[in-house]
Amino acid sequence: MKYFDEPALHVPVIAEPDVLVVGGGPAGIGAAVAAARNGAKVLLVERYGFVGGNLTVAMVNPMFTFHDVNGKQVIRGVAGELVDRLVSKTVSPGHVTDLTFDNASMSPFDPEGMKLVLFELLQEAGVELLLHSTFASAYTDGSGNVTTVIVENKSGRQAICPKLVIDCSADADVVARVGAPFIKGRETDGAMQPVTLFYRVAGVNIPNLKAWMKQNRHLLKDAPTDEEIDAQNALAFLGMKEIIKEAMERGEYPKDAAPRILMYELPQEGQFAINCTRLQGIDGTDVFDLTRAEMETRYQAWAVTEFMKRYIGGFEQAYVLDTGVQVGVRETRHIVGDYTMTEQDVLSSRAFLDGIACGTFAIDIHPPEGEQQVFTGSGKAVYEIPYRSLLPQGLDNLLVAGRSVSATHNAFGSVRVMATAMGIGQGAGTAAALALAGNLTTRQVDVKLVRSRLLEQGQYLMTEEAEELVDPALRLTKIDGSGGTASHHNPFAGKANDSNAGRITT
Ligand SMILES: Cc1cc2nc3c(=O)[nH]c(=O)nc-3n(C[C@H](O)[C@H](O)[C@H](O)COP(=O)(O)OP(=O)(O)OC[C@H]3O[C@@H](n4cnc5c(N)ncnc54)[C@H](O)[C@@H]3O)c2cc1C
Repeated sequence: MKYFDEPALHVPVIAEPDVLVVGGGPAGIGAAVAAARNGAKVLLVERYGFVGGNLTVAMVNPMFTFHDVNGKQVIRGVAGELVDRLVSKTVSPGHVTDLTFDNASMSPFDPEGMKLVLFELLQEAGVELLLHSTFASAYTDGSGNVTTVIVENKSGRQAICPKLVIDCSADADVVARVGAPFIKGRETDGAMQPVTLFYRVAGVNIPNLKAWMKQNRHLLKDAPTDEEIDAQNALAFLGMKEIIKEAMERGEYPKDAAPRILMYELPQEGQFAINCTRLQGIDGTDVFDLTRAEMETRYQAWAVTEFMKRYIGGFEQAYVLDTGVQVGVRETRHIVGDYTMTEQDVLSSRAFLDGIACGTFAIDIHPPEGEQQVFTGSGKAVYEIPYRSLLPQGLDNLLVAGRSVSATHNAFGSVRVMATAMGIGQGAGTAAALALAGNLTTRQVDVKLVRSRLLEQGQYLMTEEAEELVDPALRLTKIDGSGGTASHHNPFAGKANDSNAGRITT
């Protein structure tokens, strides 16, 4: 490899915020709003011209998962407020039951509505935004403090000198750049979950689709009943494995794509978010891999749509409305934090004295090899994410929130989802503001105070005795496979005649 030595540059300092949030995905939104609401001057840097991360950029849908098996909402706070705002703007049906992966709820939304509501949320909280700006580099004072962050944008290279940084880039870009430790992918071999380009189709005839689902329920996961299909305010569709296997053999379905149809109805009439493309062996921090993935998954999207038009009732007139701005990257770097979350923490509903957010999604791994998605547990457990997992080793004014927190490949399979990421972000933002208010480092901040502030501001946390208090029925039992051995979990079963059936209104 040849190298070129870039000459040193004189870079203007454009901002000196209390808290700099790098990345405006679910974690960055939670972090920025929480830090600002707790009195910090916050700047949020985002590389695209809008915020949302996978909620908007990669067009991932729906948000998972706000409720436990009994329908109790265990992720509230900023994320809960976001869903309420989406509902009031009629760009989301709110929390509805999940017919795909046995989670107690899912929360679909219109991605364009999401972009608008997120701007409102950030601006009302007083967060300053710097869009179209990519994090480029960071410098420390040599004793554990990040002093300067460099961004690159149309104005050139710019420096930001914050008191505290929250890395919500999803790839732990800041952590990696300052040389703090991280693990990429699976601990044993570095393999990462595959990437998927989400896209939307429009023009689906919903009554015809419902009729087709009822006639072909044997092709769908756990054969949903007529009542379940009719009760859904937003359809969720998982299945057709056998048909796809045959179609792949005939060359009618892309061989690298996920070997099942997974899709979610969106609030705009006749639209679905499609989660079917897939490419293995992509490192989301390698631009050559990303380039290949963008092209390959777009070819897949069109081929999958052709299959759907041919084989799924109601899809005859469907068309590709749009694709994500970029391919969705599931997994890259996990920081090595003061505590690394394990699969056992998730499966045993573990509460922590320094828990700052809850998660309740099952461990969902699209294996780096093999075909079928592996779903461990059934999405009923509630567990906490400890603050120590947000603390990268060797750094005292940097927190990490979102999918790159310190967790094993397996624990990450649950922690990674968007409602949880936003909850973690809120925890990080609250801790950051309280640390600065007390002139403390990220490790000195009083976590009890952080927890009580989170509760005051509407978040839900397990109590310190929660491990003993957790109802055994809420604990996950380990089920390996594609979820086929479980059945739909609907905390609202039996309410089929209620117009709110399948919709959680708490
Ligand atoms: C294909 C796929 C399907 C998924 N399915 C679901 C699902 O159905 N439901 C669910 O809840 N979750 C799902 N997830 C998981 C979820 O989307 C992510 O784990 C979650 O979005 C992580 O949140 P985050 O804020 O950490 O990162 P992201 O959502 O990735 O946000 C990171 C933000 O940082 C910005 N950024 C990154 N690097 C830089 C930089 N250098 N400079 C400036 N800005 C930067 C990005 O543009 C982005 O806005 C899925 C993920 C994928 C990829």
